[in-house]
Amino acid sequence: MKTLDNFPYEKVLVLGLARSGEAAAQLLYDSNVSFRINDLTPIENNEVAQRFDQLGIEVVTGSHPQSVLDDVDLVVKNPGIPYSHEIVEEALNRDIPIITEVELSFYLIDGPIIAITGSNGKTTTTTLTYELLRAGGLDPLIAGNIGKVATNVAREQKEAQPVVMELSSFQLKAIEKFKPDIGVLINITEAHLDYHKTMDDYVGSKLNITKYQNENDMLIYNADDEWLVNKVQDSKANLLPFSVSGKNKDGLYVDHQQVYHNDELIVYRDEIALPGDHNLENILVGIAIAKQFNIPNNTIQSVLKTFTGVKHRLQYVNKIHDRFVYNDSKATNISATLKAIQAFKQPIILIAGGLDRGNEFDELIQAFEHVKTCIAYGQSASKIKEAGERNQYKSIQTVDSLEEATIKAYEVSQEGDVILFSPACASWDQFKSFEERGDMFIQLVHKL
Ligand code: ADP
Repeated sequence: MKTLDNFPYEKVLVLGLARSGEAAAQLLYDSNVSFRINDLTPIENNEVAQRFDQLGIEVVTGSHPQSVLDDVDLVVKNPGIPYSHEIVEEALNRDIPIITEVELSFYLIDGPIIAITGSNGKTTTTTLTYELLRAGGLDPLIAGNIGKVATNVAREQKEAQPVVMELSSFQLKAIEKFKPDIGVLINITEAHLDYHKTMDDYVGSKLNITKYQNENDMLIYNADDEWLVNKVQDSKANLLPFSVSGKNKDGLYVDHQQVYHNDELIVYRDEIALPGDHNLENILVGIAIAKQFNIPNNTIQSVLKTFTGVKHRLQYVNKIHDRFVYNDSKATNISATLKAIQAFKQPIILIAGGLDRGNEFDELIQAFEHVKTCIAYGQSASKIKEAGERNQYKSIQTVDSLEEATIKAYEVSQEGDVILFSPACASWDQFKSFEERGDMFIQLVHKL
């Protein structure tokens, strides 16, 4: 396993353990870099802290005293800890650089780095890119915000293996050197304002993806976003635009249901298995990257014909007696469900509901043009029904559980319909996570 050579810092604070902090601490330990750990969970209940304590590492748990910053010349912060936290503010006061574990991986990776960020579509695009590179025989690795800690992936990387990374704004906010060979800005819409406080801070963090890039690097960006078009002019990287609206015909674009790369026809729209116009952004990015690696068009086409998306994101589950069933459990808010509804031309039986967060569902109901029936379940079922009544949409049935909802959806469906589970709500009224909820739906579908 690789370790850090010639690391330019002498004493590091690992702030917040969790998975990425543990991986960072292990890397620093294996690299003989001096460091201290500070984690909120008291050592009695903190197995990872206990382990490092036994290895002779200084471990401070239970609180964040300012003294943990003494003698420190670098903080490796868990991305989830906000900048408004007192200990982070104090590190900034003391001018101590703050990075996350992702930046440590940058010291280790030899091959090309492809880093993908955006407000929506990161996981889908990262996974598609990985599949395209794999089909092109490149033996890629996948890392970052997608479940695999970047340093752990980097430590096992063999030379020249490309690393495809999904990066969040939280990770990109804290970089000092990190730069990808290919950076991607899929789109910028919503803001994590609870963390970033201002839209400028959120967007600035996303733009950090290109901050240290140079003329040997590439930035792929969404040319339909005029604001982004202006911003990326400051980048030193080669710019490669993409446009799904057809307004811009440089780089990657869609024209008359055909997808082009630099005016070369790559694939017909109806050959692409991934449903939904929103996914076209993700597809264009995937193609852009595949072309940079000279992957032949027929390989790209065969991946696009079979790639049906990432689990729980408008995932095609099965055809049951000519009903097409999709699991979109990741749709935890109304805007995600709106995208899912728009993705189909066929009549839809929609299963929605879950945690009641106090919001209303009028906007959702108003988009029910080809939703034949909505089966609402869980805590927010009655609110969905009320919104239906307010908007003269009559075909809503309420039930208690996802199991009842799935059976009911099948009962009311006809051949050719889409049965779409896109809840528009968080899962926590009845499930631990959207993954658990989606897995349950898939099981229920297989029982039908
Ligand atoms: P992220 O990793 O950025 O959360 P995902 O790929 O997991 O994105 O997709 C999450 C949800 O966002 C999907 O269910 C879909 O509804 C929506 N989505 C995916 N790609 C896009 C896109 N390019 N533009 C807008 N919405 C998208």
